[in-house]
Amino acid sequence: MVQSVKKIPPLDLVQQYETIEAEVSAAVLGVLASGNYVGGPLVEGFEQQLAAYIGVSECVACNSGTDALYLALRALEIGPGDEVITTSFSFFATAGVISAVGAKPVFVDIDAQTFNLDIGQVASAITDKTRAIIPVHLFGQPMDMSAMMALAQSYQLAVIEDCAQAVGAEWAGRKVGSIGHIGCFSFYPTKNLGACGDGGAVTTNDPAITTAIRMLKNHGSQARYIHAEIGINSRLDALQAAILQIKLRYLDTWNCQRREIAARYHHLLRHIPGLLTPQELTESQGVWHQYTIRLCQAGQEDPGTAHKSRDWVRSHLQERGIMTTVYYPRPLHLQPVYQSLGYQLGQFPVVEQVCQEVLSLPMFPELSIEQQEQVIYGLKDCLTR
Ligand SMILES: *Cc1c(COP(=O)(O)O)cnc(C)c1O
Repeated sequence: MVQSVKKIPPLDLVQQYETIEAEVSAAVLGVLASGNYVGGPLVEGFEQQLAAYIGVSECVACNSGTDALYLALRALEIGPGDEVITTSFSFFATAGVISAVGAKPVFVDIDAQTFNLDIGQVASAITDKTRAIIPVHLFGQPMDMSAMMALAQSYQLAVIEDCAQAVGAEWAGRKVGSIGHIGCFSFYPTKNLGACGDGGAVTTNDPAITTAIRMLKNHGSQARYIHAEIGINSRLDALQAAILQIKLRYLDTWNCQRREIAARYHHLLRHIPGLLTPQELTESQGVWHQYTIRLCQAGQEDPGTAHKSRDWVRSHLQERGIMTTVYYPRPLHLQPVYQSLGYQLGQFPVVEQVCQEVLSLPMFPELSIEQQEQVIYGLKDCLTR
């Protein structure tokens, strides 16, 4: 008998909203009635709360994670003639902002265990034009920030942490976004701390950077109608700040639930042949923005195990109502727009292979044990039949 399957989505924003509906509705109506829609005490309050949560003295809210990264580069006066080293395995924004300020992105390969920058490769990519490094704490797993800061210090390079997927994650007991010179956050709705629209923030302990960013995000103006630089317009709405203030209070609980889900996935999936579960470094406490497994490609697995391609597994899971996602199918060094940089297929074998193997499983704090079991049995059934 065919049972009607209830779909398991990759994430479920409505379910989360329902748990805080009364608080959010009251806050939103309060903003609407106040007439203060841009800036003001709600935005300032959120900046202070986020700074305290991350463990820094300074925080500036802006319109998106992309803007946060762009503003960070501009505040460091990085531009034409400069090189910025970053990972080839990230959302495009990480690289796009480097080009947007006129600098040259320099990509390096990743570490297969963590999906993050391979620190040895970063070291060999440094030239006399290198100004900064942008490590990405991908899928909520912190980069080895001890190694990163040691390397950056010895070459006097700035470190801009892309924390878009890792709000609340810790390296050696410190929150990401407080370890490098600047931390950049996104509050896009699907992120661990998501607004109901766009939002972003920059964190730092350097007041000079805060001053520069406040000016740059306001069309390069400090004194009204006097413009000292070409900036942009990048604001966090009061409505989003009100919602984010509420959600920030739940973030640790939600991240904890994600950790429990990740632990259960790990425990029940790690012995399935043909599948690799993500690893955490001992000093890292991740926040599992994604739970991303690798499905070994045909010919690279133990002989005797049936080879199943990622697409085959995905479609079989989909038939069972289990929705998965591929982050990311193509490395940044092989994007059409970066052809002019001259990277070759085969140049970064780890990221090139990982892009063919990754599969992100359903992951959100409200994912039930039953739903998780369905995912696990679905995968087992696909891979061992
Ligand atoms: C989401 C994301 C960004 C960009 O954030 P937006 O708010 O969407 O502009 C940058 N880097 C990474 C790694 C991201 O996941």
